[in-house]
Amino acid sequence: MNDLLLALGTNRRARSVVGALKLPIPLPEPLARAAGPWEARPLEGESVVVSGGPLLAAITGALAEAGATVLVDDAALLATARAAAEAYARPVRVDADSRGASSANASGLASSANASRVHALVLDATAFETVEQLRAAYVFLSPRVGRLARSGRVVVIARACASTASPATNAVRTALAGMVRAIAKEVGRKGATANTLIVAEGAEARMPPVLRWLLDRRSAFVTAQPLTVTARAAAARSPAVVRPLDGQVALVTGAARGIGKATAQALAAEGARVICVDRAEDSAETSQVAQAIGGSVVLADVTAADTPQRIIDALGPRGVDIVVHNAGITRDKTLGRMSPEAWDAVLGVNLAAVIRITDALLAGALRDGGRVLCLSSVSGIAGNVGQANYSASKAALIGYVDALAAQVAPRGITANAIAPGFIETRMTAAIPLMIREAGRRLAALGQGGQPEDVAQALAFLASPGAQGITGATLRVCGGALIGA
Ligand code: NAP
Repeated sequence: MNDLLLALGTNRRARSVVGALKLPIPLPEPLARAAGPWEARPLEGESVVVSGGPLLAAITGALAEAGATVLVDDAALLATARAAAEAYARPVRVDADSRGASSANASGLASSANASRVHALVLDATAFETVEQLRAAYVFLSPRVGRLARSGRVVVIARACASTASPATNAVRTALAGMVRAIAKEVGRKGATANTLIVAEGAEARMPPVLRWLLDRRSAFVTAQPLTVTARAAAARSPAVVRPLDGQVALVTGAARGIGKATAQALAAEGARVICVDRAEDSAETSQVAQAIGGSVVLADVTAADTPQRIIDALGPRGVDIVVHNAGITRDKTLGRMSPEAWDAVLGVNLAAVIRITDALLAGALRDGGRVLCLSSVSGIAGNVGQANYSASKAALIGYVDALAAQVAPRGITANAIAPGFIETRMTAAIPLMIREAGRRLAALGQGGQPEDVAQALAFLASPGAQGITGATLRVCGGALIGA
């Protein structure tokens, strides 16, 4: 029944009937997603309102490059923003809800009554240090949040808390993330997202590709999250806006189905040659995936002693750029009733194999500027009844990528984890109906995600534009309440 409602939610006519009859049936807003490879101008035809702030030029440049029409919130910002957008021949105007509306000139300013829907609101809060400055977040966002289009975006760009900053400054910085989590819950029913983009001092040049992705339809299921950009990992390749993985070699474990299959497809779509690893029992499915994307197959159990060497042999002297540790299993039972086999199996596949394969690849096959990506889980953040083994293994990966990131940073390699929330795969189809439905509803976006949502996040983290993100665990969870 509830899965039927989910299907109904994607049917436009059914949605309008439910709305017209005022039936008390919650139908989640279908999310706008992108199919196919990255586009040169994913924001073509979209309007984005930008606040003033130290990063105005960089923000405007990123938006204009992505094809957006930039609206600034004050006429005084026009000159800076226009200079930044000039190279991309994109218009810059003053937003109709501007505080400077009455004094603006004939530079394309619409009257407030004509204020139209916008795809996104971008607030540069990097200079905010006082409660008075924090108020500017309210002043910028409050009159505009109602104009956000379906599947729209709110991004607040902020600084990280620091031991060198005053308690008051850190309070304001923390306030921004709290505000964004609240906004995510408010706009979620429109299928819109709100995220915080934290930019470390000195990492400003690494911010634009991350902003671009957060505004793209490819981040549809990422909401209420902080993404931190740092200069921690040494510089590698310069970002490309299309086919960012051209010439790269990727390895994906558990590629036969679900998230692994979608990830192999997404990486290949961006230009990577993908080696698909899965168990011999999944030979037909794995071969099918590999064949469709021009990749190759290694049939291996990730826990087998000889698997790291078999992978290295398959890679050959060229080595590998992107490693996605996706293979994962659950063996649920409350701890007192959990068999030692269930504990060992889950820790073996989800953690020990990840460490062993990574260690082997780091000894030579993983190239400088590479990527190590692990599939953690919201269960590793919040813990789940009956999942002491699984939660342990998935929490472990959060600590693992953090420490690994420091170790590999000098080589320009980044290490990150994705923590999916409820994603519609075979793994979640096995969950009892009522718990399954709660898993979907207890999220700001009121629905489960698709394997492609996780795959798109992994493809982004694999791209050169994500060089500033390392040691992080990004939740792709639709703003799940669990563990938030
Ligand atoms: P899935 O549909 O069960 O697919 C997992 C794949 O990994 C299967 O093809 C499986 O092969 C393979 N695999 C399992 N053990 C293996 C081993 N020892 N060696 C090689 N391959 C092995 O899972 P999914 O839902 O796509 O999940 C993918 C990852 O995301 C997992 O790490 C999972 O923990 C994580 N995750 C998923 C969700 C979600 O909501 N779906 C949420 C949080 C985290 P077999 O079919 O032969 O077992």
